[in-house]
Amino acid sequence: MTEPMSHLRCITCDARYDAREIRYRCDCGDLLEVRHDLTRLTRACGDLKERFERRLGSRAVPYGSGVWRYHEMILPDLPAEDVITCGEGNTTLYHTPLLSRQFDTENLHLKHEGENPTLSFKDRGMTAGVSWARHLGATHVACASTGDTSAAMAAYAAQVDGMQAVVFLPRNKVTAEQLSQPIAAGAMTLAIDTDFDGCMRLVQEVCSRHNIYLLNSMNSFRVEGQKAIGIEACQQLQWRVPDWFVIPVGNAGNISALGKGLSEAHALGLIGSMPRIAGVQVSAADPFYRSYQTGFEERVTVTAGPTLASAIRIGDPVSHDKAARVVDRYAGVVETVTEEELMDAKARADRSGVAVCPNSGVALAGLRKLRASGTIGAKETVVVIMTAHGMKFSGVGVAYHTAATELTPEHPNPPIEVDADADAIARVIGV
Ligand SMILES: *Cc1c(COP(=O)(O)O)cnc(C)c1O
Ligand SMILES: [Zn+2]
Repeated sequence: MTEPMSHLRCITCDARYDAREIRYRCDCGDLLEVRHDLTRLTRACGDLKERFERRLGSRAVPYGSGVWRYHEMILPDLPAEDVITCGEGNTTLYHTPLLSRQFDTENLHLKHEGENPTLSFKDRGMTAGVSWARHLGATHVACASTGDTSAAMAAYAAQVDGMQAVVFLPRNKVTAEQLSQPIAAGAMTLAIDTDFDGCMRLVQEVCSRHNIYLLNSMNSFRVEGQKAIGIEACQQLQWRVPDWFVIPVGNAGNISALGKGLSEAHALGLIGSMPRIAGVQVSAADPFYRSYQTGFEERVTVTAGPTLASAIRIGDPVSHDKAARVVDRYAGVVETVTEEELMDAKARADRSGVAVCPNSGVALAGLRKLRASGTIGAKETVVVIMTAHGMKFSGVGVAYHTAATELTPEHPNPPIEVDADADAIARVIGV
């Protein structure tokens, strides 16, 4: 048998482990990442860019997927016929004059990950994570979740005969739409009287003691799938590299994945330069922002408070160390925004015809702040990652527009009650 293309490597002490070994941390306690032999990969595959261009628009399984188009960069040792896919990725990169005006950024692009099968970017991670879990013969998979991770894991696990999904949710802290997803897909859904960070500790404990495969983003194979967001965005821009990526940060897995994907794309010659990356948090839960303010000298944790951006209500981000390296390597910045700022920013995208979630609103509000401070220039090319669809958080949107929150909407648009009468309706319309 040939030497595998990938192995696990500790991000601090460089210790090396077999990729087929089930482990989430190094013996030294730090995080692991999947390392691919990029030199051998190039030799074995020839012109990767030509290959990825050829697959674009294909309906073939799995290469039509916006993750598996990049199979050789994601999990080269996983045979294509072993992939569990729902046709994830291939999400729209919105670029309209209206959006540019709303955010005072000429070359603005919104990468709408809410267009994935379970309506969030987590599908990209789970197609890789669940495929690898089955490859290793796992019968039980588990995750802690602020809602979207569990929805994605449940949907992908449901496609595997004999695989049971177990999700750890903080009770009453995810939306009804999010809760409906794992329940419908047959996952064992645990509602636990704690917050996300509490669920995260519990799921690690249970998985380490029992034969259950952990699928949170500290599982390095999930990160491999999420890497495809940035690579796909660059391909949509004809392999031109934007000046900035802007992304919301919760557990910090996605910003880590974004950085890893772009580094490898650069090393493989797919892109010619490196963008800058801005991570954005919400003030109710901004430990990563606070760590950034100490120059990452200190790792700050907080007890996360209530926020409309409930998917990033996390006080102790698991992938903190990976994300801090990404910010350093990409001349990055970290911002924090308020509830009012995130909802106003979300409303601006919504009004432009792109239905986004409050967590995406955090990234958009971060863009507005970074534009106002001049950190991001008006003519720079910016890609903002929209992490989930607005429909997963419909209650938040309705409450905002009907002034049922403490916030004052800039452009409230509540439904208008009117009699069932044509003249009355015409009066309301003003015609
Ligand atoms: C998971 C999630 C995030 C945060 O991603 P991390 O990898 O935890 O930083 C942001 N927005 C939405 C909608 C999510 O589901
Ligand atoms: Zn180590």
